[in-house]
Amino acid sequence: MTRASSHYPLMVVGTVAIDSVETPFGKKDSVFGGSASYFSYAASFFTAVELIAVVGEDFPGEYRKVLEERPIGLEHLATRQGKTFHWRGKYGSDLNTAETLETQLNVLVDFKPELRNDREPEYLFLANIDPNLQMDVLNQVKRPKCRFVACDTMNFWIEGKALELGKVLKRVDMIVVNDGEARLLAKEANLIKAARKIQRMGPGVVIIKKGEHGAFLFQREQFFALPAYPLEEVFDPTGAGDSFAGGVMGYLAKTGDTDFENLKRAVSYGAVVASFTVEDFGLERLRTLRAEDIESRLANFKRLCSF
Ligand code: AMP
Repeated sequence: MTRASSHYPLMVVGTVAIDSVETPFGKKDSVFGGSASYFSYAASFFTAVELIAVVGEDFPGEYRKVLEERPIGLEHLATRQGKTFHWRGKYGSDLNTAETLETQLNVLVDFKPELRNDREPEYLFLANIDPNLQMDVLNQVKRPKCRFVACDTMNFWIEGKALELGKVLKRVDMIVVNDGEARLLAKEANLIKAARKIQRMGPGVVIIKKGEHGAFLFQREQFFALPAYPLEEVFDPTGAGDSFAGGVMGYLAKTGDTDFENLKRAVSYGAVVASFTVEDFGLERLRTLRAEDIESRLANFKRLCSF
């Protein structure tokens, strides 16, 4: 797959960010992050992916070059006057939950994504971003050519833009959220009941990520549980959720199959890609990752899980 590839089976809208991250192992400013950056980099191991996002004039050219390493379409990565979206977060000894210390929306506030009308993805991912922007993009893709739409969100939007998010949920086929977000969204502590409630809000497929405890997958009445790939050392969990979703959607777009058995395989690939992301800050680990590393860790994962 080369960058010249003009057909992108998968499209993502989300944030491209400059993060500041603090973990028990160190503190780093100006880390290249954002939901769409992690998602597209992870998905690009499976398929070509087109990225819809906005950055400010302060966005370093070297970050753009990182995305150019992969089959990621950047024609819709807009640069606007102002500063790039900035997130500052901290992880304590519980690496599963990030504490948001600061969110600066910056150029995101006035962003109006406009898709070229010859862009027709078959798979669309509405990564974590303002639900109004998720809706803007959803309104511009053609159904049924676009056969599968999934979304993510977080407490910031569940609490801040509940109505807008509710409208998005009615129109997506799948949602990928973490356990805390699922509980908040469904107002239900039990994750199985929460997933069933979320299914009634719209998405037939619900994936709940539980950090180091793995993930749950629900489709109609079917249910699948997968552990996380066990790692002795987790360095920076930022982006694990987005890389997980990138692996899931990348695999679905590559195989063109969203039946339950294939969703199970997709979730396993998502878990494996995410396990690489957390081994270093930002996108650093994914930059040295090879397709064969994913396959060999997946084979090992399979051995660990089967009995
Ligand atoms: P996760 O995969 O959940 O660890 O997501 C981490 C990324 O989400 C970081 O690189 C942040 O830039 C991005 N992020 C944090 N807060 C928000 C938000 N409110 N909307 C969109 N993206 C965000």
